[in-house]
Amino acid sequence: MRLEATSDDNGREFVRLHGAEHQIERAHCVDLNETLEIFGARNAFWAQAPDTRRRFRFECPDDECRELFHPTIAGVNYDKLVNDRDLGNHLRAPHFRWIEAAAHSATCELVVDALARAEVAKEAGPVASPDDALGQRLTTYKATDYVDVFVIELPKRGAKGPTSRDLLSPGRVSSFERRRTLVVERRAALRANLTESRVLQSIVSCHQRLAAARVADKAKLRIGGVWRTYYEWFCPMGRAAAQDENRIWYGGASVRKYGERYSVRFYDRIAVSVDRLVPLGIVVTTAELDASRDGRYYREVLDQVLATRGGYVTCWVYGRIVLSSDSARFETRGISDMVFAPRASRREGPLDGRTSKNPEKDKR
Ligand SMILES: [Zn+2]
Repeated sequence: MRLEATSDDNGREFVRLHGAEHQIERAHCVDLNETLEIFGARNAFWAQAPDTRRRFRFECPDDECRELFHPTIAGVNYDKLVNDRDLGNHLRAPHFRWIEAAAHSATCELVVDALARAEVAKEAGPVASPDDALGQRLTTYKATDYVDVFVIELPKRGAKGPTSRDLLSPGRVSSFERRRTLVVERRAALRANLTESRVLQSIVSCHQRLAAARVADKAKLRIGGVWRTYYEWFCPMGRAAAQDENRIWYGGASVRKYGERYSVRFYDRIAVSVDRLVPLGIVVTTAELDASRDGRYYREVLDQVLATRGGYVTCWVYGRIVLSSDSARFETRGISDMVFAPRASRREGPLDGRTSKNPEKDKR
């Protein structure tokens, strides 16, 4: 990766980054005047009315940088219905892409982030043993796109404390020095496991990638103050059981539509007693889905899989399984705790290596 720093006629320094490989977490959607994660942008895209639906323009999420240079960020594949397998694939899953020709401000947060991530990746050093190789893979993930915290609390209102960006006024130090300070600070934040997301789909996508690299049992994720490995948080429905604590349950499911209700039922049944298995599923109404931007995207997914793929989806639910004597249900906060993806194939589960032994056993 190479940083090219230049000044314009007014003496304003701007930079271009060449060969950047990291994932951009957020971009500013010009059409919505809102800074979004890629899956948030996807949900907003699909929430538009079908006949007037159009792609968005994205710019740098750094306010100061955007005001000065309006650097374009490319949004990729957020306008497609991506299936469960593609969620773990960088090239196919929705993502933001860096545009090399776009000029950014000297201390733009994206530039600082890219430089800090490159330094973290470099610090991993040469590999000596298989254990080190695993550590390095995790560090490399850390340097690219591994989310540590799923934020389930509502956003806090109020003033932010001063950052070093505010303290380092442009007149007093060179932009090079300011950038250096910000990179060191960002690197410390990356190492302190502070990559957060509020979108369950981002966590699911991250799990798919970690599982593909076989490090899901090493990478930690914090939800609601509790640290567990990704492997521990994600439970396939084939092993589902009632739990007092929340987990991210997932598995193959079939969708049916009855009037204004979608019924999503997992293939795997769950034991309510030693000799009794009951189905477990989710019912969502079109009204419920239409009430939120995320929900309108899922309505689109469910309608399309019903129309074209026989109603087969992979479903993820963050919540608790509650049993009664003859039934089981999920306790969730609502649609924001669910992810539905069209199934790449009817037979196989999402990339994981420990899906149910027989996902088709309950198929009708
Ligand atoms: Zn920028």
